[in-house]
Amino acid sequence: MNNKYTELLDFDREHLWHPYTSMAKPLPSYLVESAQGVEIKLASGETLIDGMSSWWSVLHGYNHPVLNQALLTQAQEFSHIMFGGLTHQPAIDLGKKLIDLTPNTLDKVFFSDSGSVAVEVALKMALQYWQSKGQADKHRIMTVKNGYHGDTFAAMSVCDPVTGMHQIFEKVLMKSIFAPAPRIFINETWHDDELIELEALFKKHHHETAAFIIEPIVQGTGGMRFYHPNYLKAVRQLCDQYRVLFIADEIATGLGRTGKLFACEWADISPDIMCLGKTLTGGYLTLAATLCTAEIAQTISEGEASCFMHGPTYMANPLACAVANASIDLLIKQDWQGKIKKIEQQFQQELIPLKQFDKVANTRVLGSIGVVETTHAVNVAIIQKRFVELGVWIRPFGKLIYIMPPLVINNSQISQLVCAIKAVLSEDACFID
Ligand SMILES: *Cc1c(COP(=O)(O)O)cnc(C)c1O
Repeated sequence: MNNKYTELLDFDREHLWHPYTSMAKPLPSYLVESAQGVEIKLASGETLIDGMSSWWSVLHGYNHPVLNQALLTQAQEFSHIMFGGLTHQPAIDLGKKLIDLTPNTLDKVFFSDSGSVAVEVALKMALQYWQSKGQADKHRIMTVKNGYHGDTFAAMSVCDPVTGMHQIFEKVLMKSIFAPAPRIFINETWHDDELIELEALFKKHHHETAAFIIEPIVQGTGGMRFYHPNYLKAVRQLCDQYRVLFIADEIATGLGRTGKLFACEWADISPDIMCLGKTLTGGYLTLAATLCTAEIAQTISEGEASCFMHGPTYMANPLACAVANASIDLLIKQDWQGKIKKIEQQFQQELIPLKQFDKVANTRVLGSIGVVETTHAVNVAIIQKRFVELGVWIRPFGKLIYIMPPLVINNSQISQLVCAIKAVLSEDACFID
C-alpha cells in the first residue's frame, strides 16, 4: 500500500469510531476503493466476495446501473425537501408499494431514517395508541430474550438483557417484560409446551402491556436463531386475546431474505405494526418505514395530541425513496423466490456438511442466510485477516460465522465463501479457547 493509503488509515484509526470497536485498541479496518456486483475491491489490491450484504442491506449488488440511475434522475429534480407540508412522488410511490406488498391490514406508512428509529416510532405509536384510548396503564413492552431491535434507548430496552447493553444503561432503560427466547427451531417438531411461560406472562401483565415486539422467524444479532412459525402464530393469538399490539420487526427479514417476502408470511399472520429498514433501499441509503393499521392511526389522531408525535428532519428523503422504489421493482420483477431457493439449496449442499468439523456446534440455513455456529468464540482480528487473505468478506461475531450474500451472487462465488469458512475451521488461531 502506498503512502496515501497509510495516511488515510492512520487518521481513521486515530479519529473515527467504528461500530462496537475500541478506540484505544481498535481492530484493523480495511480501506475500500470500490465495490461492484458481489465484489469489494480493497485499496491494498485484494478483491473480496461479499458474504455480508453490508449487514443485510445490499440486495442487487454494489454499483448497480439501475439504482445509480434512479439516484441521478432524482438528484436532478431535488435531493431533499422537508416533508412537513410538502410531499413528492418518490414517497407516494414507495408508500403505495409497501402497502401493496405487506400483509393487508397495514395501511399507513411513517418514514424515518434508520431501523432503530423505525423501532422507536413503532413503540411510540403503541404507547400513544393506548394513551389515546384512555388506557395509559398499558405502557410496558413485552418481548423475548435473544432479540435485537437497535441501539437507541427504547430499542435497547427490548434487546436481549444479557447480550444487549442493559448493564451499562440499566438506570435509564425502560423495564421491559421478557419471555424466554423461542426454543423450537423452524425444522423441529412443535410442542405446545413451548408456550407455557409466554401465556403466563400475557396473563399476568396484559393490563399494563402496550405491545409485544419480536423479529419474525429469525432472531438475527441475538444469535441467528430460526424459530418455529407456530410460535409467531401463538403470539398473534395471545395479542388478540389480551388486547396487546403486535409489532413485527422485519428490518432484517423484510423483502425476501428468508425466502418469503416478509417473514410473517411463514406463519401467515399480519402484525398491527411492522418495521422495515436495512435492504429497503437495496443497500444504497439509510431509510426505514413503520407501517400500522388504519385503526391505530385513527385512534392516535383522535387522541389528546391529535397527531403522532414524531417528525424526522430527513423524513421520506426523496433520494432514498427513489432508490428504494427502483430496488423493490428490480426485486419483484425477477424470479426472486427461485433465486433465493437456489442459494438455499447450495448452502444445504455445501455449508450444512461443515457440521462434521470439531469446532462446529451447529449449521443451519434459511433462505439466503447460512449459519455456522462454532464451539468457541472467534478471534475477530485473526479470522478477519484470514478471510481477507482467502478472498472473502465475512465478519463473524461471538460463536457465529454467518453469510447472507447479495441476491446476485453466482454458484462459484457461493462456493468460495463456503470454502473460506471451511478453511478457517481448522485453524486454531482463529478461535479463542
Ligand atoms: C439492524 C436492525 C435494527 C436496527 O437498524 P439500524 O438501521 O442499525 O438502526 C433493528 N432491528 C433489527 C431486527 C435489525 O436487524
